[in-house]
Order: sequence, then C-alpha cells, then structure tokens
Amino acid sequence: MLRQRIAAACQRAGRSPDEVTLVAISKGQPAAAIAEALAASIRHIGENRVQEAAAKRPALADIWPSPTWHLVGHLQSNKVKLALDLFDIIHSVDSLPLADLISKRAQRPVPVLLEVNVAGEASKFGFSAQELAEVATMIARLPNLKVRGLMTVAPLASDPEQVRPVFRRLWEMRDSLDLPDCHDLSMGMTDDFEVAIEEGSTIVRIGRAIFGERAT
Ligand SMILES: *Cc1c(COP(=O)(O)O)cnc(C)c1O
Repeated sequence: MLRQRIAAACQRAGRSPDEVTLVAISKGQPAAAIAEALAASIRHIGENRVQEAAAKRPALADIWPSPTWHLVGHLQSNKVKLALDLFDIIHSVDSLPLADLISKRAQRPVPVLLEVNVAGEASKFGFSAQELAEVATMIARLPNLKVRGLMTVAPLASDPEQVRPVFRRLWEMRDSLDLPDCHDLSMGMTDDFEVAIEEGSTIVRIGRAIFGERAT
C-alpha cells in the first residue's frame, strides 16, 4: 500500500507522515479515475497540462470537499491566465519572466515552487543551481507570488539510489536560499519517492502507483 510505504520511509528518516503531502498525478487519466481517487481519501490532484486539466474539471465540479489542484508541468505564458483559474499551486515556475507574468496576472498571492533542473538534463525545464541563486530573491519579492519551496524531477534511473544525490542537492539549495516561508521540497515520483522522503521531501507527486500505468 502506498500510504504504508510513505509511512515506512518517514519512519526510516525519523520524520512524521504528516510532513509529507501526497499529490496524485492524474495526467492521462479520465475524470472518473480522479473521482475514484478523491473518494478514496486523496485530497491533492496534480496535472502537467493546463488544457487537459481544463477539460476534466467540469466533470469534477460537484465533488466536496474540492481537492487542492497542483500544476506540475511546464507553463506556457499564453496559458497563465487559465492556469490561475484552475490551479491552487504551481510547482513549475522555471523562469523569471514566467514568475513575473504570474504575479502580474494573479488576483491574489499565488503559492508557487521554483523548478530546478538539478542534474542539468537538456530535456528538462527548470533553473540551474546558479540561475536559482541569482533569481530566487527577485522572484520572492514579486508582489503576487509566494515562493513556498523548490521542485525537481529526478533523472530516470534503474535504481532509485542513483538519484539520491539529486534530492540531497535540492535540500541543500533550499537550505542555502534562506527565504522566509520557503520550506517545501516537491520531489519523489512512483519510482523514487521513498528515497526522496528519506532526503526530506515534503510533497511527493505520484501517478502510476495510484492510477496504474498510463496508456501512452
Ligand atoms: C507524470 C509526473 C509525475 C508522476 O509520475 P509517476 O512516475 O507516474 O509517479 C510527477 N511529476 C511530474 C512533473 C510528472 O509529469
């Protein structure tokens, strides 16, 4: 069971399971699967595409209490307004211009995470460690953003131990930023969430371990 695996990883790290928020990543899943997860005590839903979330939301409008919606994928500037209507928190702020645009369009301060491309993969979005150090304070000063923490997607690995240094590095980056209220570490997916929790994750983003394999 997923909750038990999360609890066991917390225990190994001497942490409380209350410190780890489980976000069910429902990309590629129909609205009915999301409704089922919500009935089974999931409270946080994550999507990686704005358009896909927009298509599913109407079918879930009547569910109470409504879940917290997380955007975890790259956000294009022309979708910022729609994203602000659909999501409660954005994990994927990956440039200063995007942060600026979100702050300009938002009606109230929006919680965000800054995405870091820790391993420097060409295929991934996110700040480099050096860029992060340069822009984090500027982003944190934007009036309508609340920088709650950092997010990363670790490289694919056959053994999750291989990506432990990536999670450790994100923890260190958050530590060295020293911004107020910037505590969260969104790290850990189906294949590596236990290692991520051991390294201090406060938000795990889990798709396949909840919904099963995605049709591709
Ligand atoms: C798909 C996705 C996840 C979940 O991946 P699984 O391996 O299915 O757990 C988490 N984070 C992001 C950004 C994703 O795109």
